[in-house]
Amino acid sequence: MTDRRDELAANLAKVERRIADACAAAGRARDEVTLIVVTKTYPASDVRILAELGVRHVAENRDQDAAPKAEACSDLPLTWHFVGQLQTNKVRSVVGYADFVQSVDRSRLVSALSKEAVRAGRELGCLLQVALDADESGRGERGGIGPGGIGELADLVAGAPGLRLDGLMTVAPLTGEYAGREQAAFERLMVLSTDLRRSHQAATMVSAGMSTDLEQAVSAGATHVRVGSAVLGVRPRLG
Ligand SMILES: *Cc1c(COP(=O)(O)O)cnc(C)c1O
Repeated sequence: MTDRRDELAANLAKVERRIADACAAAGRARDEVTLIVVTKTYPASDVRILAELGVRHVAENRDQDAAPKAEACSDLPLTWHFVGQLQTNKVRSVVGYADFVQSVDRSRLVSALSKEAVRAGRELGCLLQVALDADESGRGERGGIGPGGIGELADLVAGAPGLRLDGLMTVAPLTGEYAGREQAAFERLMVLSTDLRRSHQAATMVSAGMSTDLEQAVSAGATHVRVGSAVLGVRPRLG
């Protein structure tokens, strides 16, 4: 346990350094960027250590893993982000522990989230997941809506009881015109965010950048980076 603590502390310090350097290089204040540690596939004991080390935001992508972990960590001062593809039959469970759902990408999901948030008497932060490998009006391979769908879905979330429209999220695409061009992809997301904020001023969150491309995301203007393996170690496949 102590070894794991040392390992996580060292990894966290490295990631913290990278974020600080990227902020400095971009002329941004360090507090403009929030680190979210993606704890998927790792045990609740790791989440507990991370909380002790000062982490305040964690993310998960599968409800089956996340629900018991969040339960086991419910005494910790953590904000939970759900970042995976979300089926409507999991919504009730996710709304039970998530403070943010970053993967909102279709109207059916919006209605389901709204219904459960109201039922639970809570307000849920929502980010629209943008697929930059999709057609303007299409859908991404790994979830997300094409840029052309943002306006309509944003209005839907903003008008849905129990939901708060907080911003946009993306994952750097593996295919299409942005494949291998993370910086360009994140800059495109920033343009879409600026557009969105014209009609939804409070939707200021821009969630982009993972272990390998957090520098590009910070440089482009991301407000939240989602870092998993650089903190916790390389996951077995299927993470
Ligand atoms: C797993 C995951 C991350 C973190 O990825 P790493 O490469 O491990 O940093 C970020 N965002 C989403 C949506 C993920 O599923």
